[in-house]
Amino acid sequence: MSEIMNIIKDFAKGCPCGVEHTTTVRDVVIESGVVTRVGEILKKNGFTKKLLLVADKNTLKASEGIIESLEDFDIEYKIYDDIRVAEMKHVCEIEALISGREISVLSVGTGSVNDPCRLACARQNKLLCIFGTAPSMDGFASYSSPIVANGFKASYDAKSPEVIIADTKILAKAPAYLKSAGFGDMIAKFIGICDWEIAHVLIGEYYCPRISEYVRKTVTELLEMADTVTVENEETAGKIFEQLLKTGIFMSFTKNSRPASGSEHIIAHLLECLELPKGIIPNYHGEDVGVCTLTMLKYYKELAKHESIKAKREIVDWDEVYEVYGEEMAPDVEKLNSPTTVTDLVDPADLENKWQTIREIINKLPDYDKCYDAMKRAGCKTTVEEIGKEQELFDTCIEFSPFMRRRLTLLRMKKMIEL
Ligand SMILES: [Zn+2]
Ligand SMILES: [Zn+2]
Repeated sequence: MSEIMNIIKDFAKGCPCGVEHTTTVRDVVIESGVVTRVGEILKKNGFTKKLLLVADKNTLKASEGIIESLEDFDIEYKIYDDIRVAEMKHVCEIEALISGREISVLSVGTGSVNDPCRLACARQNKLLCIFGTAPSMDGFASYSSPIVANGFKASYDAKSPEVIIADTKILAKAPAYLKSAGFGDMIAKFIGICDWEIAHVLIGEYYCPRISEYVRKTVTELLEMADTVTVENEETAGKIFEQLLKTGIFMSFTKNSRPASGSEHIIAHLLECLELPKGIIPNYHGEDVGVCTLTMLKYYKELAKHESIKAKREIVDWDEVYEVYGEEMAPDVEKLNSPTTVTDLVDPADLENKWQTIREIINKLPDYDKCYDAMKRAGCKTTVEEIGKEQELFDTCIEFSPFMRRRLTLLRMKKMIEL
């Protein structure tokens, strides 16, 4: 049994945090050569004889042997040329093919193929198996789908797949830049759990120390594998995939994305939102996220050097905020920040008093140099220039992205903290 299935079983027994940690994921198989057993695994998990296989040309080509393994199934196909951005039209197309029928879905690929499938299957209540082809991002087991509709990207309530399969031989052969992107997405988890614990300390947000420790251990282990990310190494590729999956499972345990993302993901999200309407094709998720992670790591560590701080209520020029978001996004941002905004929950005196605790939480983050070095060795992009962004736009996203979520992060409190 895979380590992930053991974790799922173990957490189901109960957790000291008091929350019932469940997931709809029933089976996870990550093995070398498993592509020839996909049919057998689907049968074992009660998939219907009728199957819709969704893929793009590249991901189908990478999964040689998968069709042969499905000889007992009656397969229909939806093969895209190349999906770089998951759009609502893809969701609708897939829904139209499965609506009102006795059929299950097998999605072969990574985020942009899987995300529309997870939403379509949730809406049509169909079984879903994801066959992952590259360890490139953290959304495989996620229950929400980032989808672009009318030029804007939003997160939709979708579902986790019932079954997740990956063949380490195929993962290892994935292009190096995809594996590096996956590595960058994993490093981000350090910031995610740091922000989560700080929110717990300051505003009493629900927090699970056990999950947080698991995430920290997972990412720390991965840092050690940096040298083998860009080469064809089954063990490393399998490990990155497994770790990315784990954070997805942890998100379903907590029913929020705290274990997987913090301020860095929100910055990357705004970058994408501001560039999409200009027709700019986004970078791979983990590339932007990796650079945002390094930027936040540096900022958080700098803050922690201060033995004490002065805190005050923030003063926000909301007109300026809404201008950055533009008329399409501004109403949503306004809704998230009115009648109160998340920092209203933070008492400045409390922030000052708890600063030592917050410093201790920040100091659990790994060294900046250590992370930077590992990311370099793992082939990750590490500068704003390398991800092809203007520094000015990047800085705008750092300053204004925290307003697009009702979520407390250390970055969100920037205007409250006087050094
Ligand atoms: Zn827990
Ligand atoms: Zn991510």
